[in-house]
Amino acid sequence: MKINLVFIFCLFLTFCPLDAQIINEIPLSDRVTGYRIDVKLDTDSKTVKGSMEAFWVNKSSDTVPDIQMHLYMNAFRSNRTTYFREMGGSPGNNDSDLGWIEIRSLMDENGVDLLPSMEYISPDDGNREDKTVARILLPIPALPGDTVSVRIDFETKLPSRIRRTGYTGDFYFVAQWFPKFGVYEPAGMRYSARGGWNCHQFHANSEFYSNHSVYDLTLNLPVEYFTGSGGKLISEKTDGEMKTLVYRAEDIVDFAWTAWPGYSVFTDRWKNVDITLLIPGSRVKQVERQFAAVKYALQYLDQNVGPYPWPHLTFVDPPLIGAGAGGMEYTTLFTTGSSLFMPEWRHYAEMITVHEFGHAYFMGILASNEFEEPWLDEGVNSYWEERIMDNYYGSNSGLINHRLLKVSDKSSARRGYSSSPVRQTVSNNEYSWNYPHGTYYMMSYQKTAVWLHTLAGIIGEETMDNVFREYYRKWAFKHPSGKDFINVVNEVVQKEHGARFGPDMNWFFDQTLYGTGICDYKVIGFSNRKYRKPEGKTDTADAIANEWPDTDSLYTSVAMIERAGDVILPVDVLIHFTNGDEILEKWDGKARYKDYTYTGYREIDWVKIDPEFRITMDVNFNNNSFTEEPQRAVLHRLVNRLLTFIQFYLSIILL
Ligand SMILES: [Zn+2]
Repeated sequence: MKINLVFIFCLFLTFCPLDAQIINEIPLSDRVTGYRIDVKLDTDSKTVKGSMEAFWVNKSSDTVPDIQMHLYMNAFRSNRTTYFREMGGSPGNNDSDLGWIEIRSLMDENGVDLLPSMEYISPDDGNREDKTVARILLPIPALPGDTVSVRIDFETKLPSRIRRTGYTGDFYFVAQWFPKFGVYEPAGMRYSARGGWNCHQFHANSEFYSNHSVYDLTLNLPVEYFTGSGGKLISEKTDGEMKTLVYRAEDIVDFAWTAWPGYSVFTDRWKNVDITLLIPGSRVKQVERQFAAVKYALQYLDQNVGPYPWPHLTFVDPPLIGAGAGGMEYTTLFTTGSSLFMPEWRHYAEMITVHEFGHAYFMGILASNEFEEPWLDEGVNSYWEERIMDNYYGSNSGLINHRLLKVSDKSSARRGYSSSPVRQTVSNNEYSWNYPHGTYYMMSYQKTAVWLHTLAGIIGEETMDNVFREYYRKWAFKHPSGKDFINVVNEVVQKEHGARFGPDMNWFFDQTLYGTGICDYKVIGFSNRKYRKPEGKTDTADAIANEWPDTDSLYTSVAMIERAGDVILPVDVLIHFTNGDEILEKWDGKARYKDYTYTGYREIDWVKIDPEFRITMDVNFNNNSFTEEPQRAVLHRLVNRLLTFIQFYLSIILL
């Protein structure tokens, strides 16, 4: 397409700034899109207004007739938008409550007005009241290799009731606020069978599928505001009652920022990463704990997955009035959620910090399509969050470490999955907004984390870490799909274990990720029968009596195991005898029933399935063991159930 040289020169200045402004000498990603945004925060009208220059490079071999952009702030325009239809509730009824974005002007690089060729589309649900995606027909289609550049004047009104984004009083959290390109996918690549723009509407569940981009933001706002963003602060100039900040971010998938006069700002450093924390002044006691949590997460993911590639990181603990902004991720910026009452034994705020930071890897670096395979972000991230929490805060007390109650993060997720009444829902072929009966959270977060722990239990944690190292090495900044992850698992397992688990691990994913089955292995019981001597006329010699001459002390013992669920996984069975002997049986877990029979001068006194708790997916741990004294066993099971119940409700109350 024809390019205006003056405009391109401006873009060159924009996206290849002076050396001092470049953060990474070598780009981390292919930077298909870039944004230079210049806006002013108007604290009276609660708007962010200004202009933006943006580009998209057609890296496909297709001739593309249009561009598609997210206008996500329109999700807060009325209660008829797709977001509110899915979420319930309302943005409010007054103009001051609503959130919206208006495109005031839209031009291409030749100064051609593109506004008349812009239309709102609703590719996900056809909802005409939803204006969160715009399609703009280009005057000349973009040929392979072309760069499409646009200049947009826009005004964004922030909603008053903060749901991820908005304002309350003088607190602002500004996310999903500017026109942003969708992802153009050539046919057959990753998520797209037909090829074209992958540009989903704004939904109640899931937020991201975006290009890695360069952002240059110039922000004008009143001097008394403290700000933080996903970018690195390049310059700050004060002019009377206003100040102008310039931020730059590279190779991130979204750009958000916050402003509030009440923040206290703290800084710390981990390796070459400058960490900034914005927190209400009243919570300064939490600063040390928050920095410790984020540094644990940096350390653990760096060691077991791959390096954190940006030299800066900002996290925000919103004040109570802005709590709706808490617990969200924007790659190099994330929000946590602590409070004034934070006893040492409760680690929920740390858990939020570790979780939201972890998204920098799975939503930020790997950047899969969260709308179409939410488990690749939320589930994988939950798995790592649980490992980090239990590693640093105690294997049985990652969440709560009180002398009366200890709760690990891993067991908390498992309890969520195993106690859910709708855990059989299929976890694939479902867009994030289509999960039935409110199962999105359970399927995308908890079930995924549980089967990832189970996979680690089967292939070993060392192999699991190598899977993630290879996944990172191969797919960082390239938007992998679920199949890409599975292929990495298959390659690494094959390399480290040969054919021990079969030609590939697809049998595992078919059952756990793509299947609906329940996993439940159960000890039915055991028996110890005195050896019966031959009576009557027998034709053959008694082989057993030959081997075990003292037949009076001889027992035939049988341990009886059942596969009560449909899921088939290899499982260990530990049989313990009265004389202290133990036998560990490696069972392929396939048959419905399995008996283990032993002869000897000993009786079985207990049987335990999966003694090392590798099969986290097993929904009922209470039937995994059986002891000699059934009455005690029943009592033990009842106490166990009661404890689980108390633990569950206490953990909710304590939250
Ligand atoms: Zn998350």
